[in-house]
Amino acid sequence: MARYHMNKKEREIHDRAELVRILRDGEYMSIALCRNNEPYIVTMNYGYDEARNTLYSHAALQGLKLDFIAVNPHVCASVIIDEGYVKNDCKHHYSSVVIWGAMAVIQDLEEKKLAMDVLLRELEENPAPLKKRFIKDDSSYDGVTMLKLEVRDMTGKASH
Ligand SMILES: Cc1cc2nc3c(=O)[nH]c(=O)nc-3n(C[C@H](O)[C@H](O)[C@H](O)COP(=O)(O)OP(=O)(O)OC[C@H]3O[C@@H](n4cnc5c(N)ncnc54)[C@H](O)[C@@H]3O)c2cc1C
Repeated sequence: MARYHMNKKEREIHDRAELVRILRDGEYMSIALCRNNEPYIVTMNYGYDEARNTLYSHAALQGLKLDFIAVNPHVCASVIIDEGYVKNDCKHHYSSVVIWGAMAVIQDLEEKKLAMDVLLRELEENPAPLKKRFIKDDSSYDGVTMLKLEVRDMTGKASH
């Protein structure tokens, strides 16, 4: 896809480490999906694994977003660190990343485990008790859909 230049160049984030920081600090993403020219947007928590450049999420076994992904895995997602609207200044402070990539349901059990570990590690301060509560054994993974969003490209922008 052709890339547009950012209008406010001074706000563009070029530093890869800063893009990674936003993805690590962010807690949820809004994902734009498309099926047969019909759009759908859905918000999900995620955990970002820098080494794999992949965002992992969990979901129920069925639902509209899964139907969309099955037809068209190509998605665009946005992560925002919202630093608040500045009253009387007509400004909003933020850091955000826009991602393009492919989203898929993870089928392999070991990969599902890895995805869950990344998700809990990134969202929770102490994931062990939570994991113990919800994951009794391997069969617990049968009751959850684990999704991966492999990042193909991303851009960042900040207004401080
Ligand atoms: C901050 C945040 C974090 C979330 N984290 C997760 C997560 O990690 N995993 C997860 O599975 N879900 C998460 N959700 C809920 C998610 O947004 C969806 O509601 C959920 O995933 C069901 O999506 P679905 O496509 O399967 O919808 P379905 O249950 O199939 O329902 C589809 C219908 O419900 C409507 N709908 C679905 N979601 C919403 C919504 N959020 N608001 C208004 N209408 C809606 C759709 O427009 C559609 O008409 C989160 C929501 C928020 C706001």
